[in-house]
Amino acid sequence: MARWLKRGRDAEAIAEDDAKIRSTVEGILADIGKRGDAAVRELSNKFDRWDREDYRLTDQEIRDCLSQLSQRDLDDIRFAQEQVRNFAQHQRESMKDIEVETLPGIVLGHKNIPVNSVGCYVPGGKYPLLASAHMSVITARVAGVPRVVTCAPPYQGKPAPAIVAAQHLAGAEVIYCLGGVQAVGAMALGTESIEPVDMLVGPGNAFVAEAKRQLYGRVGIDLFAGPTETLVIADETVDAEMCATDLLGQAEHGPNSPAILLTTSETLARETMAEVERLLEILPTAAIARQAWADYGAVIVCDSDEEMVREANALASEHVQVMTQDPDYFLANMTNYGALFLGPRTNVSYGDKVIGTNHTLPTKKAARYTGGLWVGKFLKTVTYQKVLTDEASTMIGEYCSRLCMLEGFAGHAEQANIRVRRYGGRNIPY
Ligand code: NAD
Repeated sequence: MARWLKRGRDAEAIAEDDAKIRSTVEGILADIGKRGDAAVRELSNKFDRWDREDYRLTDQEIRDCLSQLSQRDLDDIRFAQEQVRNFAQHQRESMKDIEVETLPGIVLGHKNIPVNSVGCYVPGGKYPLLASAHMSVITARVAGVPRVVTCAPPYQGKPAPAIVAAQHLAGAEVIYCLGGVQAVGAMALGTESIEPVDMLVGPGNAFVAEAKRQLYGRVGIDLFAGPTETLVIADETVDAEMCATDLLGQAEHGPNSPAILLTTSETLARETMAEVERLLEILPTAAIARQAWADYGAVIVCDSDEEMVREANALASEHVQVMTQDPDYFLANMTNYGALFLGPRTNVSYGDKVIGTNHTLPTKKAARYTGGLWVGKFLKTVTYQKVLTDEASTMIGEYCSRLCMLEGFAGHAEQANIRVRRYGGRNIPY
């Protein structure tokens, strides 16, 4: 039986926070819908102390941002982008259009058509999260999306040079310096100065994730990608320093970022809790990570790998770092996760920043029903059909007509009947 040595806040308190966020976001989106640019300007001023006539960055502003980075910074960004592009291209190639003859004279097919325009949100409230620009903009480009616009909040009062460089180098057509609900709201609903998009993608804090959820339907969204979560699965083959580092490395994302250790070793569990306290004394981002660990950290001891799989599937965490004797057992048996990091040589940070898999991943148990962002999310798989012969039209028409009448759809049935009469020269015997 799994034993919890440490728990985070209870579900009721979290649900209360979520309800407050839902209602704040509802109000903001309604305001943007009603007042457009005027509301966006007020909200940007209120939440980010950032006010300008036009939030679109000029070519000169983009060049200025690029010039503030060293050659090494630019080379590193290009390297990371190349990895993301390369993997996305392989994934794109795996998505084939198909056309098959399923019955004599009956041809069915599907095509993968890119969405026409997407708005990529790049988070930047607490940290200038430039990696999110590679993940959404490059992947959209590889999918073939014709219009890619992107938003990121100001960082410390101005556009963040590293984010802007990443947005630009990734191939964004338009860059807005705008954050939070006002950014995704403006991109989805459109304003006098911002042309609406067909789909919103990218991660963000709880407000951004909730805004995307509320806008779904009006536009498409990639997935529910809110505050980062991490789950470390470990046994005695790794040490507490490694586990604690991997927990805090993700807890530093924000005060509401769950970091959970699942282990078969009670000794490792207790040593990791002590090691977390030691590292919190020296980690420069400890202020955030300490709060996340206090409110959302958890440590669970299990009896077997099988039990850890069950617990991990129930948690359906965004990131799962597996450091056990046999990581492939978890690859074979786990079903609910955003991304798996197998073995101690890799870790979530590699995935977040550079290795090439996408870091925009499902949170709040959305991993039960979706994976993360990838080229496939930007493609609409649409079907078509052709009936090549009179015989095929008549044969399928007879089935169709009878099935329509079982449902009471006389008009539908007549669509079949007319074809059976014209192409088969007979009436349907009911
Ligand atoms: P952010 O860009 O997501 O949010 C900043 C914006 O939040 C600000 O521009 C502001 O407008 C808005 N905001 C702040 N307080 C508000 C309030 N009280 N009411 C309304 N709006 C408010 O940046 P962030 O806050 O640093 O968060 C980034 C998030 O992205 C983190 O939680 C991180 O864990 C998450 N993330 C998730 C993934 C994923 O794939 N799931 C990947 C990377 C990052």
